[in-house]
Amino acid sequence: MSTSLAICGGPRTVPEGLIAPWPPTTPLDEEMVLRSLRGHKHAWGDNCEALQEEFARWNGNRYCLAVTSGTAALQMCIAACDLSAGDEVIVPAYSWTSSATAVLHQKCIPVFVDIEPRWANIDPDRIEAAITPRTRAIMVVHLHGVPADMDPILDIARRHDLMVIEDACQAHGSCYRNRRAGTIGHCAAFSLNQNKMLSAGEGGLFVTDDPQLLERARAMMLFGDFRKPLDDPDYHSYGMGWMIRYNDLCAAYARAQLRRIDDYIDRARRLFAVMRRELAEVRGLILPSEPAYATENGYNFVCHVDAAAMGYGGPPNFLREAVVSALSAEGVPAMVWQRRILPEMAAIAARNAYGRGSPWREHGSTVAYDPAGFPAALHHSGTYFIIGGLRYPNDEKLARLLAHGVRKVFENIGTIDIDDLARRADVSMYERGWKFRT
Ligand SMILES: *Cc1c(COP(=O)(O)O)cnc(C)c1O
Repeated sequence: MSTSLAICGGPRTVPEGLIAPWPPTTPLDEEMVLRSLRGHKHAWGDNCEALQEEFARWNGNRYCLAVTSGTAALQMCIAACDLSAGDEVIVPAYSWTSSATAVLHQKCIPVFVDIEPRWANIDPDRIEAAITPRTRAIMVVHLHGVPADMDPILDIARRHDLMVIEDACQAHGSCYRNRRAGTIGHCAAFSLNQNKMLSAGEGGLFVTDDPQLLERARAMMLFGDFRKPLDDPDYHSYGMGWMIRYNDLCAAYARAQLRRIDDYIDRARRLFAVMRRELAEVRGLILPSEPAYATENGYNFVCHVDAAAMGYGGPPNFLREAVVSALSAEGVPAMVWQRRILPEMAAIAARNAYGRGSPWREHGSTVAYDPAGFPAALHHSGTYFIIGGLRYPNDEKLARLLAHGVRKVFENIGTIDIDDLARRADVSMYERGWKFRT
C-alpha cells in the first residue's frame, strides 16, 4: 500500500468512475415512466393511487397518501394530530430542518431535546424534562436509518397523553423490535427524495392506521378540498390547504423502485458488514453499530473521529474536516451532511419563522434554544462523517476498496497538516455561511 496520501500528491485509492451513482435505474423504470407519460394523466393518476396501496402494503400501514415531499408529509403529520397554534412539539436537537420547520409551519413551537450519543436519535431519558402543559406531541426521527428507542418514548407519550409522529424520511424498511419504522407512532412521514432508500427524484408519503388522522392529513393535500384527489371537484375550499399532492410520472418511477427496495436494503446491510469487518481495528475511527433493538436499513454509514485516540489536541471538527478532505482525495465518497444543530439554525435561533417573532411572540413562548444546552448534538455534528457508495449495485469488492482508502487515511493522518487543511475547508464553508466552532 502506498503510504503517500492522495491529498499530499500520492496515488488515489479509488479510480474515478468506479462508484455507481444512486439510484440505479433499469428498463422497468423507463417503461413505467414512459407508460405514464403516454397515458396523459400526469397530475394525479392511477400510479399515485397504486403507489399509496403498494407502499402501505409493503410497510404494513393501513393508509398512505402520496405527496410532493417528505417535508410536506411531516407537515401533514402535525395537522393530522390536530395540533394547533401555540402547541409544543418535542423534536430532537439534531435532524434535518424539516423536522422542526414542519412544526413551525403549523404555528406550533418546537421544543428541542438532546440526542443520545451513540445513534444520534432523541434521548428518551431527556424527554420528560421538556414536557410542559402545552406539549402535545413528540416528533421522533429515525436518523441515518437507525430507529430511535421507541418503547420508552411510547411509554412517556401514553403517560402524558401525547401524540407520536415518526420522521421516517431516512428509515424505509428499518425495524424496531420487528416493527417497521412508520408503523409505531400515530402517523409518519417518508421521503422519496433522490438520496433516500426509496428514490423517485422527489416526493413524500404520509402513513397512518387511523382513519381520522388520514382525513385531517388529506384535507391539506389539495387546496383545502376535503375529498379524495380523484373525486369530482366542486371548487370549494373547506379548510386551509396546500397544493402538495403527488404527480403520476414520479409515482410511476417510485413504484418501479419500490419493487427493488428489499434488494437495496439487503445490499447496503451487506456492504456495512464488510466495512465493519475491514475497519474494526482502525485507531481513531469510531464505526457505527446496530442497536440490539433494531434492524437498520443501511441508509447512512455514519462514522466519528476520535480526536483523543488520534493524539490530536485541536478542535475535533478540525480533525473531521481534514479526514473528509483526505478521504475525498482518495476517491472515497466521504461527506458531512449537516454541520449545525437545529437550535443553531437561523430561522429558529432568531425566533422569526413567520415575521415579527411569529409564532413564538403571540404565544409568549420563552423556550430555551441555547445550543450549549444540547452537548451530545453538538458533539455529534462536530465529529461525524458519512461514507457513501455503499449501495446497490456497488458490491463487496468496492466496499473493500473504500475500506482500504479509509485505512490509508487514518494510518497516515500524521503526514498531513490538519490545522491547515481544516482552515482551507473552513474558507469554502465560510463562503457557504458556516463557521467552525472552536
Ligand atoms: C430528507 C428528510 C426530510 C425531508 O424530506 P424531503 O423529501 O427532502 O422534503 C425530513 N426529515 C429527514 C430526517 C430527512 O432526512
